[in-house]
Amino acid sequence: MPFKRSVYERSIYQEPAPIRDSDDPFQSMVERFDVAAEILELDPGFYEYLITPAHVHITAVPVEMDDGRVKMYEGIRVIHNEVLGPSKGGIRFAPDVSVDEVKALAAWMTWKCAVVGVPFGGAKGGVRCNPKAMSPKEVERLTRRYTANLIDVFGPDKDIPAPDMNTNAQIMAWVLDTYSMHSRRTENAVVTGKPVLLGGSVGRREATGRGVMTVTLSAMERLGMRADESTVAVQGFGNVGSVAAQLLSEQGCKIVAVSDVTGGYYNADGLDVQAMIEYTEANNGSLEGYSEAQVITNDELLALDVDVLIPAAKEDQITKKNAGNVKARIIAEGANGPTTPAADDILNEQGTLVIPDILANAGGVTVSYFEWVQDRQGYFWTLDRVNRRLDRAMREAFDNVFEASEQYDVSLRIGAYVLGIDKVATALQMRGIYG
Ligand code: GLU
Repeated sequence: MPFKRSVYERSIYQEPAPIRDSDDPFQSMVERFDVAAEILELDPGFYEYLITPAHVHITAVPVEMDDGRVKMYEGIRVIHNEVLGPSKGGIRFAPDVSVDEVKALAAWMTWKCAVVGVPFGGAKGGVRCNPKAMSPKEVERLTRRYTANLIDVFGPDKDIPAPDMNTNAQIMAWVLDTYSMHSRRTENAVVTGKPVLLGGSVGRREATGRGVMTVTLSAMERLGMRADESTVAVQGFGNVGSVAAQLLSEQGCKIVAVSDVTGGYYNADGLDVQAMIEYTEANNGSLEGYSEAQVITNDELLALDVDVLIPAAKEDQITKKNAGNVKARIIAEGANGPTTPAADDILNEQGTLVIPDILANAGGVTVSYFEWVQDRQGYFWTLDRVNRRLDRAMREAFDNVFEASEQYDVSLRIGAYVLGIDKVATALQMRGIYG
């Protein structure tokens, strides 16, 4: 069928890209890296090595839509660093995915794995698309073609994807199947976060939110706060935010506000998180129309007078414009990059304890590692074992970061960067530069 001009009219170039109130996310990463590098007195050559992504893959992903027309999408996979092991990181499907964003997210995976002691390097992938405007079959074809294009990049010993924003276990099953069809055998260790029936791990879906809960409790303990006397606001009610809210409410915290893309929902007496999760399940994943709460804006949620604030939505939410309004004593970053460097300065100044993304949301990749180990052994753990090992890993990582921050008299974020970068730099020193 000859292509007509109209085929291209709805191409990626027409996808609306939301305007960010932000600094460039890769720049945000580099700014924190610079502070840590100075503390570590990092060799200038190593500095260059460690901020440079090892591989950047950009690939055109054609998809035949249900109406027979072909649309082109931009697929990206960035492998930031492979010094500690095969690279690891999620794949996101979103309209504002860009190479710079994926480069930042891949670098954060490198430091995250190092901080929590997972023997992987860092990577991230993305496709610039609006999956909410696509049918399940279109998403499947997009996923399979993206995977096929990157077939030489992925591999259980090379680069292992996982879910991220707008991707889930079903999408990982399609990655697994496409990869396996090409390699002529079932390779379940090529992705993590897949369905349990296909070699996924129990507890993986909840792992990021569970890790957020664990580090929040550790921080409360350090500050002499009690869970059953604390109030919490959660921005984002996806896989991370909803689980963190639920688990913290089980610990006795009062969850007074949550939000999703449709707005914020507030109840000073505490929200029924379980009921809200059930509401979203029956309502296409959205909280729109939930009536047991007062509707508030995103900005109002961030400025609530609560003890704990959990940004679990997306990058660049706490900026220099609104950081001064934050009243929470603890911020636990469920999302990657929710706070800009300029906001960090304001929060540090006002004494807010920020548990940084590369620590707070590391529970996901920790259980991804457990999943990969289980796949390779062909022996699957109980939920109790997964959760105990996850809790221990998160508590130890929190304590290590806390101690590093005290030792160097810096924020938890810089403490985490110092630990992560030091580990990767030391490994690089041991391996040496080939050639
Ligand atoms: N996408 C998650 C993250 O940002 C998980 C990555 C993984 O499990 O590989 O940490």
